[in-house]
Amino acid sequence: MKIAIGYLVLLLSIGLAPEGSAAVAADITSAYPGTLSLKVDLGDASRRIFHVREVMPVSPGPLTLYYPKWIPGEHAPSGPLQNMAGLVITADGETLPWRRDLVDMYAIHLIVPQGVHDLGVAFDFLSPTSGGEFGQSVSATSNIVDLEWNQVLVYPAGYVSKAITFSASVKLPAGWQYATALEPHHSGSGDVQFKSVTLNNLVDSPLIAGEYFRQVDLDPGATVPVYMDIVSDGPENLVITPEQIQHYRNLVQQAYKTFGSHHYDSYHFLFTLSDNTGHFGLEHHQSSDDRTWADYFTHPDTTLVGSGLLPHEYTHSWNGKFRRPYDLWTPDFNSMPEKDDLLWVYEGLTEYLGEVMTARSGLWTREDYRQALALTAATMDHMPGRTWRPLQDTADEASILYYAPGAWHNWRRNAGDFYAEGTLLWLDVDTKIRELSHDHRSLNDFAREFFGINKGSYVTVTYNFDDVVNALNKVQPYDWAGFLKHILDTTQYHAPLEGITRGGYRLVYTDQPSKYEKASDKVRKQLNAMFSIGLQLDMEDKNKGAVQDVLWNGPAYKAGLAPGMQIIAVNGRAFTPEVFRDAIRRAQSSTAPIQLLVKNLDYYKTYAVDYHGGLKYPHLERVQSQADYLDQIITPLK
Ligand SMILES: [Zn+2]
Repeated sequence: MKIAIGYLVLLLSIGLAPEGSAAVAADITSAYPGTLSLKVDLGDASRRIFHVREVMPVSPGPLTLYYPKWIPGEHAPSGPLQNMAGLVITADGETLPWRRDLVDMYAIHLIVPQGVHDLGVAFDFLSPTSGGEFGQSVSATSNIVDLEWNQVLVYPAGYVSKAITFSASVKLPAGWQYATALEPHHSGSGDVQFKSVTLNNLVDSPLIAGEYFRQVDLDPGATVPVYMDIVSDGPENLVITPEQIQHYRNLVQQAYKTFGSHHYDSYHFLFTLSDNTGHFGLEHHQSSDDRTWADYFTHPDTTLVGSGLLPHEYTHSWNGKFRRPYDLWTPDFNSMPEKDDLLWVYEGLTEYLGEVMTARSGLWTREDYRQALALTAATMDHMPGRTWRPLQDTADEASILYYAPGAWHNWRRNAGDFYAEGTLLWLDVDTKIRELSHDHRSLNDFAREFFGINKGSYVTVTYNFDDVVNALNKVQPYDWAGFLKHILDTTQYHAPLEGITRGGYRLVYTDQPSKYEKASDKVRKQLNAMFSIGLQLDMEDKNKGAVQDVLWNGPAYKAGLAPGMQIIAVNGRAFTPEVFRDAIRRAQSSTAPIQLLVKNLDYYKTYAVDYHGGLKYPHLERVQSQADYLDQIITPLK
């Protein structure tokens, strides 16, 4: 792309680029005139290149184009601008010069010449081949493509996203099938043209496509249908048992009973089963982009560990999309930052309700639920970082912490904490309502009160802290502001486990891992000994024994270990998980420290860990004198 020098002088002289202009405030009253046409050619998807062609009605004069930066659901300025290449802007067949804003690099400034009414924009999206988080992770394989529209478009600045209309189409590789919440206008020979939608709805409606595809009807006969659409790298991963389908059908009904509403015309779980793509879930009003292990339906360990994903993303249709923190709502994807301080509601409550519904729908047994909760509670109860960073701050800094390294998680704390501690917080609220109301009310009443409004509408209704407190007070009068603030702002070492004790259980440790923890370690290829010697180790073949994390001030920390080291031998014997566990077991009846031969980059050293407490794995133990609220909470709603 060449910049015509004369043109640049013009840009400078009228105060556009390149000195860096402030974001263009979105006009919230007027609609953008005309419809933007967007064609995405996915014919090269297996090479991970998406070709983009846009035609935009314009008026002569200065114009700023935005590439989406703040991505809803990712809670961060994570739009993958670095993957945009080959940008060419044309008018009447001529290439136009453009200049990037020096402050907001997601903004591109240009001048539309006199007499020009349509602008052509073309670029290639270089979909990643490795690494990345969420939508920036691998999204295309030989047989799959997961398309997020925000990655393949630019839009005119100065208008709210719901005032800009797009007519979008995709070209798919021959023979591939697709799914999306968008409605097709017509399709033929691999081209699918969708009905025109507003920009916010387009970005809210990702598309998956693949050679191996299966659709499962999760609410047969319903006027508002719910589907699970699955793509995978091979046909063997599309095998689902009738029992698994029934659990997901239960999930839909349990969600309707929990919320007393729905906020979509139809709903699509867009489910990618692949060991080659990134693994995450991204919520939308009428769909979710859910990506997990290839053998999710066919291997009991991955089924157990992965079952919470779809209930979590589905819950977001109510909590996060339909009802959203006021400062996470933005008029477009660029002109205002998203603020993350209420993510302990958006994500924390979703994590709690999602896991409860995983159990209510039968995806988890009651025992599975308790085992997963025990692991969450123990993890949060071994989090020395709680002494300097309160839960509230993990949300406040979320847009950075989502991208924090895993090393020293327990001292740094990360964005996962308002999910895990959010679970404990909302269990605390749920059991407190049950106790105060003498079992007459529960968080189910709050869910209907808060999310059960405007049935069928997917126009976002925002809320703030006081709205949450007021809704809780309507269900059960109490000092909820004080109650919540205490958990959000405390810097005490121990996690809020009152919900578990009020729920009729206590957190205990034995020398045997639960089925859930065993499966979790196996699927994640790790060895979790954080609750005993204070180490979490990598079990990947190429990295076996590498230290992923060390409990701050724990036994291994005091001996001198740190993330990034690798355990080579234990008490003089080559490292294996069995040798490691056996050494911890034997040290219980000895005063001799455990000797760890450790590789630290190019050097080897032996560290003596003075630990004699044995293996420790968390479990929930029933306290008979307390009502079993936990069991009531996960009982399917009638
Ligand atoms: Zn979420």
